[in-house]
Amino acid sequence: MKITDVKVTVWKWDNIPPTQYTKDFKSLESRSTNMALVQILTDEDITGYAFLGHSMASIGYNAQIIVERFRPGLVGKDPLDRERIWQNLSKWSLGGTMLQIGAIDIALWDIAGKAANMPIHKLMGSYRNKVPAYASSAILGSTQAYVDEALSLKENGWTAYKIHPPAEPKLDIEICKAVRQAVGDDYRLMFDACWAYNYNDAIYVGQAVQEMGFYWYEDPLPCDDVYGYVRLKKTLSIPIAATELPATGPKAYAPWIMNQATDYLRGDVAIKGGITSCLKTAHTAETFHMNYEVHHGGNSLNNAANLHLIMAIKNCEYFEVLLPDAAQKHGIVNDIEVDSNGMVHAPDSPGLGMEIDFDLIEKNKVFEL
Ligand SMILES: [Mg+2]
Repeated sequence: MKITDVKVTVWKWDNIPPTQYTKDFKSLESRSTNMALVQILTDEDITGYAFLGHSMASIGYNAQIIVERFRPGLVGKDPLDRERIWQNLSKWSLGGTMLQIGAIDIALWDIAGKAANMPIHKLMGSYRNKVPAYASSAILGSTQAYVDEALSLKENGWTAYKIHPPAEPKLDIEICKAVRQAVGDDYRLMFDACWAYNYNDAIYVGQAVQEMGFYWYEDPLPCDDVYGYVRLKKTLSIPIAATELPATGPKAYAPWIMNQATDYLRGDVAIKGGITSCLKTAHTAETFHMNYEVHHGGNSLNNAANLHLIMAIKNCEYFEVLLPDAAQKHGIVNDIEVDSNGMVHAPDSPGLGMEIDFDLIEKNKVFEL
């Protein structure tokens, strides 16, 4: 099989509700963003797809970068030679280009699954066919809003809830206490500070959520503060989950493992360079008996790719669902849903196994490359 072309269609996602996930990154009004559909075409009538982008910011020049920088190196290659292609694309790529490499890699896996007539997780070698999901809050406007959301999720069968707090230490602890009291001691709660604290605040809040029996403590310190994380991990007993950022490939995790700076590794197919890259990191983590907790993918097709990855590894406990749906689910007809027991199930159609809403993309098309 040969790749014959790489195309990108940019479309507009309208009416995204105001959302905030980190202290300094928020939208106050309903808005639009540009998304991209990446298509890798082959001479065997199989096309691989990926989505590029998310609800919080437009894709900028990412579509052009795919076509101008990466297309020439892809056309004529065998799309099943994923490892060779990934090594070539990623050897001089850091930071932002991992996004494009991720999209290309996901589309190649989609081709491979379709060529083999099996879902991607089967092609990788499945470990399971379902996994528990946790709901991941946005930053909400009041303590009561967190309590209400957690209670409503619990009532609907969800088994775990992760708090993204306003990142004001005293208020953050107050929110955690209120939610813990509302859902009860046995309900699973996680906490994600999104890199907001200095060391003293990280200890202060970490000890509080540890005492409240939270399941993990995610990204309290800046994403490059390995030294701070080493000190923090020695002081706290609650598992630390770092490494969701920056956008880097598998080798960037080495100092975190070598320095014992985190209990779990994190990553997702969107920013860490695709399924190929995440699979390497997950397997590396496994050799150290560490979990690789997969981060949400930022868009519907990336989340499907994340789900396939999780189905094929043992050392990930949860599938992350970032709320609200209106800012996360877009462009897919049969998007991933959590069942009444809080589980998500493996897609069972070939490739990514998701039905792309081509009508919606065509209707909102901005340009095509
Ligand atoms: Mg996080």
